[in-house]
Amino acid sequence: HHPDRSTVWVGRPGQQVPIGPDTVTFIAGPCAVESAQQTLEAAQMARSAGATILRGGAYKPRTSPYAFQGLGVAGLEILADVREATGLPVVTEVVDVRDVAVVAEYADMLQIGTRNAANFGLLQAVGEAGKPVLLKRGMTATIEEWLMAAEYIAQRGNLDVVLCERGIRTFEPATRNTLDISAVPVVQAASHLPVIVDPSHAAGRKDLVVPLSRAAIAVGADGVIVDVHPKPEVALCDGPQALEGAELRELAQAMRRFPELV
Ligand code: PEP
Repeated sequence: HHPDRSTVWVGRPGQQVPIGPDTVTFIAGPCAVESAQQTLEAAQMARSAGATILRGGAYKPRTSPYAFQGLGVAGLEILADVREATGLPVVTEVVDVRDVAVVAEYADMLQIGTRNAANFGLLQAVGEAGKPVLLKRGMTATIEEWLMAAEYIAQRGNLDVVLCERGIRTFEPATRNTLDISAVPVVQAASHLPVIVDPSHAAGRKDLVVPLSRAAIAVGADGVIVDVHPKPEVALCDGPQALEGAELRELAQAMRRFPELV
């Protein structure tokens, strides 16, 4: 029913940022919101590098229950303050159906993470929340399963869904996940929805974020989402994949040059 590829708009009226076929949207920010200062600094780094949407987790779905789980509502308040300070719309993850309303109250876009990509009740709830959704691919999901997860959201009346390839589980331990770069054109051929790439969570290593971002742009992705942190060495979550300094400058340059690369 959708012969043309869709554009999803993120942010408040007058400040909306497009994700779709006419551009490559650059989303960046800290993996986790740790403090007001850290989030503001990360957002300023992201904006200086050319990012137009801020990412940051207030609810963190960690493998270990003893790892930092996020600041919750306090983190959402920090994100809202940083949006005011920087003008960047905010995408943040919701991990529990009970939190959908509060996350939708603060965020401009709701993220469904890889671990919840088959949580059908949560998918239906974000489908009714009235905000665009960033849907990560489940780490063991086939493309069909990923698209059906999007259907659970769309079926509740929300067609503003952006798909995000973030790597899948394979036998290869050199990277945390294996970025399935071919998924981008495969999904673009099968669906009207925008498709972006998360090289940070795919690789788990900052040295691979720039090359994988280049690959994403070259293969036709509609955007990239990357982790940045002012002090990755003390990050409470996923520090080894966070960009700063030279790597972030390199990524900024690659993003500015994307029209020549495609
Ligand atoms: C994230 O983006 O913060 C995250 C946890 O990603 P994923 O669900 O892809 O692991």
